[in-house]
Amino acid sequence: MKKPEIPLIINGRRIDGRLPDEVREIKMSIGEILNADGSARVSFGNTEAIVAVYGPRALFPKFLQETDVGLVRVIYSMSPFSVDERKNPAPDRRSIEISKVTKEALSAAIFIEDFPKAVVDVYENIIQADGSTRVAAINAASLALASAGIPMKDLVAACSVGKVDDTLIVDLNGKEDNYSESDMAVAMMPSKGLITFLQMDGRLTKEEVLELLKKAEEVCKRIYELQKKTLLERYKMEKEEE
Ligand code: UDP
Repeated sequence: MKKPEIPLIINGRRIDGRLPDEVREIKMSIGEILNADGSARVSFGNTEAIVAVYGPRALFPKFLQETDVGLVRVIYSMSPFSVDERKNPAPDRRSIEISKVTKEALSAAIFIEDFPKAVVDVYENIIQADGSTRVAAINAASLALASAGIPMKDLVAACSVGKVDDTLIVDLNGKEDNYSESDMAVAMMPSKGLITFLQMDGRLTKEEVLELLKKAEEVCKRIYELQKKTLLERYKMEKEEE
């Protein structure tokens, strides 16, 4: 997309006032969708994802069943009201791509051999979009899977990093996302130090890629701590209610 006339960095600050290494305010909660087996809501500033997980449940038609592993299905969608110009709710190329890549980011952490012949459905809904929606969806989906009791090797934490006006930044907002020189979305299993997903747009030097990966790892570790805190608080609350 053509860069706007206005600069994206002014006196070392970004258009929303943040410093290059500053993440937007992050909020997380669990359990709002009562019909689901697990659900979570995650927001980064004005980007907000809500995810519902159903399963493991029997998979039909039967010919899709595998005798030794289960199936994970992911559907990412942006609500029509999530952006100021109405978004057509029908699946488009972008949402099909994001469903596929976020599924891969999450599947790496799931013990699919623990639910043969069954399916886990993950519905990722973006209710407000201001950049970095796919990583918000991964963070919320990981929490929703854990709250549904799906056996996992680790939580998956994700963030975006990139380059605007020759400056390396973290957690891109909508304008930065659209006009960046380059942007990267990264997901990892922080306690294992394993990257489960990496997408990049634009051009970067090898040194910039390595520097951005370092920044992404730091942000993912912070998100991971928040995810664990959110899960713990939820279970403490449930125990007290018993
Ligand atoms: N966006 C939009 N309408 C669309 C798709 C995207 O306004 O149909 C905006 C939205 O703010 C989104 C941003 O463009 O977060 C960047 O979208 P991208 O495809 O890069 O994916 P994301 O960064 O959200 O994972």
